[in-house]
Amino acid sequence: MDVMVLTAEGLPLVAQSWADPVPGPGEVLIRVTACGVCRTDLHVVDGDLPPLRRPIVPGHEIVGRVTALGAGVSHLALGERVGVGWLGRSCQACPYCREDRENLCDDPEFTGYTRNGGFATHAVADARFAYPLGEVGEDAALAPLLCAGLIGWRSLVMAGEGRRLGLYGFGAAAHILTQVARWQGRDVYAFTRSGDAQAQDFARRMGAVWAGGSDEAPPEPLDAAIIFAPVGALVPAALKAVRKGGRVVCGGIHMSDIPSFPYRWLWEERQVLSVANLTRRDAADFLALARRVGIHTQTVSYPLARANDALDDLRSGRLSGAAVLIPPA
Ligand SMILES: [Zn+2]
Ligand SMILES: [Zn+2]
Repeated sequence: MDVMVLTAEGLPLVAQSWADPVPGPGEVLIRVTACGVCRTDLHVVDGDLPPLRRPIVPGHEIVGRVTALGAGVSHLALGERVGVGWLGRSCQACPYCREDRENLCDDPEFTGYTRNGGFATHAVADARFAYPLGEVGEDAALAPLLCAGLIGWRSLVMAGEGRRLGLYGFGAAAHILTQVARWQGRDVYAFTRSGDAQAQDFARRMGAVWAGGSDEAPPEPLDAAIIFAPVGALVPAALKAVRKGGRVVCGGIHMSDIPSFPYRWLWEERQVLSVANLTRRDAADFLALARRVGIHTQTVSYPLARANDALDDLRSGRLSGAAVLIPPA
C-alpha cells in the first residue's frame, strides 16, 4: 500500500510504501477510493493536538470498498462501499459509552490520529465504525460528509431549533450544513474572514441569506451560532450576535484562546457549548438525512501524492469547499 505519513520528524507528510495490512478480528480492510482533508488533519500535522502516535497516516473522511474481512465480521460484504470517520473505536465499557455518549469515551481510538487513517491506498477499520454508504453518489463527493458533515450535524443538533442560524467560518462543514439548514426551513447567516469576498460569494451561492465579515453584526439577532473557524475571538463575537437565550456552539476540536469579555454578553441565558467527536447514531442519522436532502458537496480533488498541497491550501484558506485526496487506482 502507498501512504502519506506524518513521521516523528514532522512536516511535510512523506510518501512511503508499506506492506498491505491484515484486518484483525472485528476489522475490515478497505481499498480507499477517496479521503477528505479536514481541519482536524491540519491540527494533527501542525501539532496543535498532542502527538499521541508517530508515525501516523492522517485522514478520517474515508470512502472505499471492503476488500478483506477480519474474523467475526458478517454485517459487511466484500466489495461493499463504506465510509469511516473520526471515531475509530469506542470502548463500550466506560461510563460515557454505557450512557450512549460514546463520543465522550474514556478510551477511544481516532482515525488518522491514534490509528492509521485514509491518506493511503488502503486502511483498516473497526467494522462497527465503517458505515455502509450504498451506491448513490460519487466517492469524492461523499467523503466530506464523513466528518465535515457529521460534526456539522452534531453541532446543528446542539444549536437547537432556532430559525436564524449563524455559521462562523465558511468551509467544508458550513457549506454542507447550509444545505441541511435550508432544507429544514432555516435562514443561514455566514460569517467569513473580514473582506473575504470569495468566501462570502460561495456562502450566498450555497444559500446563505446574508454573508459578511466575522467583525460585522448580522442584520437580525441570531437564534444560534456555530463556530467552525479555530479562532477563540469568535466566541464573544458570536455571543454578541445571538439573541437572549441564544446558543453558541463551538464545532472544532481545537481553538485559540478565548479573550475575556463583559459578562453582559453572556447574560440573559445565552449559552456556550462545545461539540466533541460523534457517535455512530449521529452517523446513521446524518447519512440517512444527507440522502434525503440530496446534499451537493463542492470538492477540490488532489492526487494522494499531493496531500501536502491540499493541507497547505486548507491552512491558507485558499479552498472553496472541501479538499479530497484520490489514491491511484
Ligand atoms: Zn468508552
Ligand atoms: Zn474531521
